[in-house]
Amino acid sequence: MSEHTLEITPEITIPEHLTGQVQARLAYVDEWITGAEVTTSGDQIVLQVKAAPDEARSDELNAKVQSVVNEMARGSFKPKVEILEDHLDRPTSYSKDPMDELLARGEVSEEGTGMFTFGPLMSRLIDYLEGRFLELADSFDAQPYRFPTLMSAKFLGRADYFRAFPHSLTFATHLREDLEIISAFSKDAAYEEDGLNVSPEIFSKIQALLSPATCYHLYFSLADKPLPNGELTATAVGNCFRYESTNLTSLERMWNFSMREVIFVGSKDFVLENREQGRQRMQSVYEELGLAYMVESANDPFFVGEFRKQAAFQNAFQLKFEIRACLPFKDSTLAVGSYNYHQDFFGRHMNITLPDSSPAHTGCVAFGLERFAYAFLAQHGLDPANWPEAVREALS
Ligand code: AMP
Ligand code: ZN
Repeated sequence: MSEHTLEITPEITIPEHLTGQVQARLAYVDEWITGAEVTTSGDQIVLQVKAAPDEARSDELNAKVQSVVNEMARGSFKPKVEILEDHLDRPTSYSKDPMDELLARGEVSEEGTGMFTFGPLMSRLIDYLEGRFLELADSFDAQPYRFPTLMSAKFLGRADYFRAFPHSLTFATHLREDLEIISAFSKDAAYEEDGLNVSPEIFSKIQALLSPATCYHLYFSLADKPLPNGELTATAVGNCFRYESTNLTSLERMWNFSMREVIFVGSKDFVLENREQGRQRMQSVYEELGLAYMVESANDPFFVGEFRKQAAFQNAFQLKFEIRACLPFKDSTLAVGSYNYHQDFFGRHMNITLPDSSPAHTGCVAFGLERFAYAFLAQHGLDPANWPEAVREALS
């Protein structure tokens, strides 16, 4: 961690419900920032910075931080948080960060920032959890789908993703089709301290990104057509990518993770009823997993300019609920999955129509596989002998 710090007093006090949200966005404010902390009272921000800033640089950082705080916090009101399930007091048997032991045992290794490799214990546990999520998919007779890891830039643009989540995008590119460029690269390319020693001009225009979410692929495949039979339930697992900058810590926030989804497309009632069914059917699964968790209303991590409006909208219409598992070692919770309703957003933007010509509604139940396994281990430890019976039996 950097030794240099810069203290900033925000012009407006950051309300408590926003301190975490503002803190997470500060990672993207300036390349000098290597860490940020907002006090719980919201009246002080401590930045860790790469080098000691002179007065001009301090002023610049200060101005950038103030503008983020102003955009996010000015006129914001505390959302009404709705709790649908609360089993945070379910007994757990472990109280350390499992990451230390996972790394020590070689069960997890970090290939690069936010990129993790898993050994047999984590892999078997993830497979077991996948099996439980597939049981949910089967209970809806969900149709299996397979999606690419790349996602079309054209479609992501149509889905307004660049406006909402620009900060977390990961771009896929390739060398331009040019003999000189390719030859020079093959001769000279090498990794330097912080990346490849090449200039951006040698890369092609961006046509693809790495998928930030699984269900988008389904909506893109249904675009510009009437929805056959007027409804569809699908399931897929996908590799997802969200660049979380200096927030990429441990298995809590990865750049590359996997998401299993059950996806509903149809009328408003169809989607809302199935999302609710999905939530209810998962309760007994969490019980068997011995999971200490809660389900509460939430919002997506919109970037600064879009945050206030979009988060308020999601909250007002109860569009997102998160399954938040307890992390006993840090006395906090981590989202391991979510229940989402997008209204007719994708139906309109992707032009997916129902038999009455109105735009289709969509929703999904999404699980983060690595996070789910990590939270399970944080609650029950790495020794299967201490795991809840259902999991122990299935894995023995
Ligand atoms: P979301 O679409 O944001 O609700 O994501 C669905 C699930 O994916 C979350 O509940 C997490 O479990 C998981 N997830 C999202 N972002 C990350 C990340 N950066 N690292 C690991 N898991 C993630
Ligand atoms: Zn989804």
